[in-house]
Amino acid sequence: MSQQRSFIPAEQAQAPFFVGIDLGGTNIKVGVVDDLGRPLSWLSVPTEPKKGPEDASARMGQAVLDAIAKAGLDLSAIARVGLGSPGTMDIPAGMLIEPVNLRGENGDEWNNFPIRDRVAHHCGLPTSFANDAAAAAYGEFWVGSGRELSSLVLFTLGTGIGCGIIIGGVSIDGENSHGAECGHIVVNDADDARLCGCGQPGHLEAYASATAVIKRTRELLDAGRSSSLVDRLNNGDKLTPKLIGAEAEAGDELSLEIIMEVARYMGVGTVNLMHTVDPSGVLFGGAMTFGRNATELGRQFLARIKQEIDRRAFTVLAERIVLDYASLGGDAGYIGAAGIARADHTSS
Ligand SMILES: [Zn+2]
Repeated sequence: MSQQRSFIPAEQAQAPFFVGIDLGGTNIKVGVVDDLGRPLSWLSVPTEPKKGPEDASARMGQAVLDAIAKAGLDLSAIARVGLGSPGTMDIPAGMLIEPVNLRGENGDEWNNFPIRDRVAHHCGLPTSFANDAAAAAYGEFWVGSGRELSSLVLFTLGTGIGCGIIIGGVSIDGENSHGAECGHIVVNDADDARLCGCGQPGHLEAYASATAVIKRTRELLDAGRSSSLVDRLNNGDKLTPKLIGAEAEAGDELSLEIIMEVARYMGVGTVNLMHTVDPSGVLFGGAMTFGRNATELGRQFLARIKQEIDRRAFTVLAERIVLDYASLGGDAGYIGAAGIARADHTSS
């Protein structure tokens, strides 16, 4: 996601300082933030997973040092580093277990790798470890759309569905570091339920991720449903949620129906979370958010989620829940990882 970034100069920032790392399958984003979560610097380096986790750890360590220099700070000004990473993982142990989006030359080099301690070794700073979706949720909680909320759930709608839950100021990681796998809550227990990317049937991700949307659209088009999408595809456009969103806004009924179906399932998933942890707010982020509050479609998407909540949730919860879009975009991960480092620093 392209976005405008603004940075504050070191002399206006408030110590202590923290560095956040957002490790993704393609890029590693690193930034320095101050004690109020304001960025001082940012940079991105390619992940190059094929070179293996030790090579990537060394580059992450160097990127941390580069980001600190870019911020105009000395190493001694940094209290702690936070690393947000895709799972599966063992958070207390600082280990990657089997990260499906990180594959080396032989396939399994990233499995069971002590990434937290290797990054700490390469940058020479104490390092905290978090799930990437939990880090994004923490970023929104700290300085994003959730900064007025005392607790929240963040759903990230993209190729899959990521989720983070922040209650009492801490990420709910669970006993086995799978505490907020809400893309995999069951929303359909029928025998013909759709198969999720994880291989299990009926999960939310099988109905409300970008992957699910594209699959569902293809099925309906193959079944002969009329849609302006047919012309767009014949003209060589690629079938993406963005295209489906554009056609929905232009009045295509099928496109709108598909997007509202996603909203309905997100409403069902949200109710399950409301009846589990009763958060003060639920935020929606990621690439598939249909223009967010800035477009009619984005507002309609949230309204459809709320409609499903009104239908299924306890009245007091439905009345009080705050629903909104996330606001930090692609920066939520590194800012949140830095925020988790700050929380660990404060409590240690
Ligand atoms: Zn699943």
